[in-house]
Amino acid sequence: MKYAPVQNYINGQFVDASTDQTLPVISPLDGTLLSAVPMSAPKDLDAAVRAAKIAFHGWSHTPIKERVQVLFRYRYLLEKHLQELAALVSEENGKTMGEAIAEIEKCIELTEFAVSLPQLVTGEVLEVSKGVECRTEHVPLGVVASIVPFNFPSMVPNWTIPNALALGNCMIIKPSEKVPLSVGRLAQLLKEAGLPDGVFNVVNGDSAIVNAICDHPGIAAVSFVGSTKVAKIVYQRSTHHYKRCLALGGAKNHLLVLPDAKADMTAQNVAASMSGCAGQRCMAASAMVAVGNVDHIIQKICEEAKKIVPGQNLGAVISKEAKERIEHYITEAEAQGAKILVDGRHTTVPGKEQGTYVGPTVIDYVKPEMSVAKEEIFGPVISIMRTDTVDEALAIENANPYGNAASVFTQNGGMARYVIDRASAGMIGVNVGVPVPREPFSFGGWNESKFGVGDITGKSSIEFWTKLKKSTVKWNPEAGINWMS
Ligand code: NAD
Repeated sequence: MKYAPVQNYINGQFVDASTDQTLPVISPLDGTLLSAVPMSAPKDLDAAVRAAKIAFHGWSHTPIKERVQVLFRYRYLLEKHLQELAALVSEENGKTMGEAIAEIEKCIELTEFAVSLPQLVTGEVLEVSKGVECRTEHVPLGVVASIVPFNFPSMVPNWTIPNALALGNCMIIKPSEKVPLSVGRLAQLLKEAGLPDGVFNVVNGDSAIVNAICDHPGIAAVSFVGSTKVAKIVYQRSTHHYKRCLALGGAKNHLLVLPDAKADMTAQNVAASMSGCAGQRCMAASAMVAVGNVDHIIQKICEEAKKIVPGQNLGAVISKEAKERIEHYITEAEAQGAKILVDGRHTTVPGKEQGTYVGPTVIDYVKPEMSVAKEEIFGPVISIMRTDTVDEALAIENANPYGNAASVFTQNGGMARYVIDRASAGMIGVNVGVPVPREPFSFGGWNESKFGVGDITGKSSIEFWTKLKKSTVKWNPEAGINWMS
């Protein structure tokens, strides 16, 4: 085992879980056994909630301008350790080093937003009648929880950590059991940055801990990112216990390619979107709708896909099971009559035979009723459907139950606006394959890609991580009473 067994992080200390049940942590890059992650018991969560509750008094009463000083130092440490943090992300998740570096750079950007929060949460005050003032303040919720997926071991945790902490909450995070190492390292950096003990806690485990988080009376809010199936469970279960919940789910993102699109630019964007992070991004292009004759662009997409080489500029998928699932989708589509233009099945990387690689795959003549057209594949696969009109393409996009992202490739501004207005997704791209809003713009999908109100990052996160206190103040008796008294 390359690293020591993973521990929980409670009250500023790394501690063993109370059970000896563990799961192996395996590098998708080459099958190396990296570590073992504990399957904690609810009493481990109890200990974390107790520590967070005690820390909350001091942290929530620390002025926000002081709280963000910790995050300024955390941002500096992320930058200082960028290569090391990226190497860990790559090792446990399987993405390329370049992609992992980009992930840590995004963590830095997210933290930069959090340190700007004092400028955004100044509240409001107004003299509403003679001598009487109304005032609103953003107040932290208390102990909050964040449950995260495997595909961004560092970035998705950092969607929630800096903002929730800057706004005065104490947090418990449940990392993905597939990639628990990065969050442990983030805990060390937060401590080094001066975060008081108990403000940030890590409890490892699987669905048992997720369920315990949803049920725990000491936790005020739950943020979840993962598949739609589990997002629904978490949203239902935590709101059943009257908690605030924002649960981001899976996706099936459509790219509409029009005949007037710039061919090279479109092909490069489509290939990068479907294959980046081995297709394991909730913003990945997964379905392309070719409107009219765009054969010349499809040909270029295939040329681009062939330049993407597993083990070089394409990382591994998370596990053997994921590889089998993705390859099964491709085989099923072929059996149903779709045409495999570029085939990534049965890929091995010399010297890394235990790695779990799937090559880029382009499937043409896909019908909307096929599984590859409807379901989230979460691999480097693009399914191309063909329509005669933009309205038919939009009908396909609108019919899919998800709603994270959609993009249109065209040189016609009016047509781009037409698609922006009609696509049923929270994040839209025009000639952009991965339309992730950069900070300070907020991130969040629609439909079955998100349950709950608001978005997870940006200004929207202020509403999620705080509640408003409204006070009405009068000091001078001569103000008297009025019709509102
Ligand atoms: P997942 O839903 O399997 O797991 C997410 C978290 O839930 C993990 O911490 C896991 O331990 C826990 N979990 C798993 N099964 C559970 C169950 N039955 N009950 C309670 N908890 C459970 O997701 P994943 O495979 O880790 O991540 C991939 C998924 O995440 C994809 O669907 C992807 O689209 C989605 N994702 C969405 C976004 C977004 O912004 N919408 C971002 C990243 C990933």
